Amino acid sequence: MAVRRIVVFGDPVLVGEAQKVDAIEPRLVKLVEDMNDTMYANRGVGLAAPQLGAPVQVIVFDTSGGKDAKKKIALLNPVLIERLDGEEEAEEGCLSIPEFVTNVTRASRVVVRGQALDGKTMEIEASGLAARVIQHEIDHLLGRLIIDALNPLQRDLFERKWNQEANQRRKLV
Ligand code: ZN
Repeated sequence: MAVRRIVVFGDPVLVGEAQKVDAIEPRLVKLVEDMNDTMYANRGVGLAAPQLGAPVQVIVFDTSGGKDAKKKIALLNPVLIERLDGEEEAEEGCLSIPEFVTNVTRASRVVVRGQALDGKTMEIEASGLAARVIQHEIDHLLGRLIIDALNPLQRDLFERKWNQEANQRRKLV
């Protein structure tokens, strides 16, 4: 069990495609434990393996924030197999882009298929926040971030602000 450093925007691991998991080895189980620990420590509701620098198709999420064990889920090789009930827009943040939020349009209800840590196939139907989180984390596995939803002007503004803050951070160190 360990809380690890979250990779932030600018690191190439966040924009590459994650690789499929084909064997459930002890180090994968350890990665999932670290992902859970890191997610809870940062009060997040989801985390994808690339955010810990591991380019593999693994996501964890828990919309109860650790209060309901049934909602603590880890999925290997997750794939969205259905998008239902239209779309909705809501504000989202990302632990890899600290102190930034933007509106993102997502399917209102989804069905996701993947494997649990015991190798069994799992199919989950989710709506509301859970549907949003699942889509956000699967995007991470495809190298997509919430800033990809920005228009060019907003994106430019974001990058300027981000770089300014990065300079600020460097001065503080
Ligand atoms: Zn994120």
